[in-house]
Amino acid sequence: MEWGIINKENFKEKTTYDVPIKRWDPLSTVTLAPDEFGLHRSQKRFSGHYSYISPIRGDRPKGYKTKEKKSDAKDYTLDVIEEVQDVFMAITQGKPLYKSEGKLIGDGYTIIIMEDDKKRDKPFSDSPHRIEISKSTKAITLINRYPSMARVIDSDIKSSIQKQLPKHLKLAEGINLLTISKDFYPSLDFSLIPSEVLEAIFISMKEAIIYCILESIEKDYYDIPVNPFFNIGTKVGGSQPRIHSQVYIDLNGDGHGSRLEGYLKAFKEMGENCHLCETTHGNTDRIILTTKFWTFYTTGSPIRNYHIRFHPNEHLRRFSQLKINQMSDLANSVKIIFQAMDDINLDRNRNILFNCCPYGYDADFHMFGDIIPHEIIGGAEMADDMRVARKLPNIAANEIRNSLEKYI
Ligand SMILES: [Zn+2]
Repeated sequence: MEWGIINKENFKEKTTYDVPIKRWDPLSTVTLAPDEFGLHRSQKRFSGHYSYISPIRGDRPKGYKTKEKKSDAKDYTLDVIEEVQDVFMAITQGKPLYKSEGKLIGDGYTIIIMEDDKKRDKPFSDSPHRIEISKSTKAITLINRYPSMARVIDSDIKSSIQKQLPKHLKLAEGINLLTISKDFYPSLDFSLIPSEVLEAIFISMKEAIIYCILESIEKDYYDIPVNPFFNIGTKVGGSQPRIHSQVYIDLNGDGHGSRLEGYLKAFKEMGENCHLCETTHGNTDRIILTTKFWTFYTTGSPIRNYHIRFHPNEHLRRFSQLKINQMSDLANSVKIIFQAMDDINLDRNRNILFNCCPYGYDADFHMFGDIIPHEIIGGAEMADDMRVARKLPNIAANEIRNSLEKYI
C-alpha cells in the first residue's frame, strides 16, 4: 500500500485493519454546528483529538546515521551521502542506488507532483515510475511512499472496508506530500542550505498544495485541512538525512483537530481586530527579527523553551497565498535564525509548523508558524493543552537576538 494506493493486488491478503485509519477520540470529540465555518452540510463534522494509524508508516526506511556538523555544504561528498543512506538520491538520479556491499538503498520509483513550480504527475496518479529531473531543478515535491492516509482506493475495496470498520473508525483518506531539495543538504545542518534552495522548497510546496486542492475539489472533496511542516532530525520525527518538508492534506471532510479549533474560534472572536495585525508582542522585548514581510518572536506561552512564532506581516490565511518575495524573505530569515540558534547550542532537532485556515472554511485567519526545538518533556506536561517552560520568553528572545546580530 505504498504511495497511499489500495488496489486489488495489494489488498488481497490483508485485513480491514491493515489500511490507514483515522480515529476520533470519543472523550475529546464534539460535533461541529453545521454553519460554524460555512462548512458543507452533507456530512457530520467534528473537532477534537484524532489519530492516524497507518501500518505502512512502520515500513519506511529510518534510523539514518547522523554526522558531526560540517561547516560547509560541500563537505557532504558522495561518500558521506552514501554513508548516511539517503533514499532520495535514487529518486533524484532516476535509478536504483546501492550501498557498496550491494544492498539496495532506494529503487528510484516515485510519483512527482511538482518539479520546482512545474507540474509533473497528477496528484491522484497510481503509477510510480523512475523520472528524469532537470539539472537546473532545485526542489521536487513527491507523494510520500509511506503515508498516513490512503490516496487512491479501488472503489469496491473502499466500500467493503467502510462496511466492515466499526463506526468510530474510518479509512483515512488524504494526500501526504514530501518536498526535498534536488541536491543533498543535510537536514540537521539546516542552516547550511542556500536560501534560494529553501525558497524553492517553499515554492514547490505551495504549487503542489494548489494543484492537489484543485484536483481534490474536482473529485468532490471539500472542507480540507492542510498542514505544511518540517521535521528536522530523528528526535522530532524526521526519518531522512536530506532536508525535506511535508504537507498533510486531509480529505476526510470530517472536521479538524482541537488545536485548530482553538485558533479558528480565537480569530473569529477577534473579528476585525486581528491580534497578529495589531500586537506589539509584549512591547518588542520578545521580538527576534522583523523584516519587510515577516515578524519572528518568542511566544509568551511557549510549548517548549525557545519556542518561536512567526507570521507574515500581511493578513493571509494560508501558506498557498504566500507570494514569491514573502517566500524568499522567509527562506533567508529562517536560515539565519537557525544559524543563530545553532550558535547558542540549542538542540538541532526542531519542528517548523505552519498553521493555516483549511480550504472551504469561511473563517478569518492570519496564518502563522511555529519553530519548536526538541526537548524531552514529562508526563504531566502532556496531560492537558498546557506546557511547562523554564526559560522566560523575553530572555530566550534576547539570547537568540544577540546571536543573530552578526547575520543581519
Ligand atoms: Zn491579521
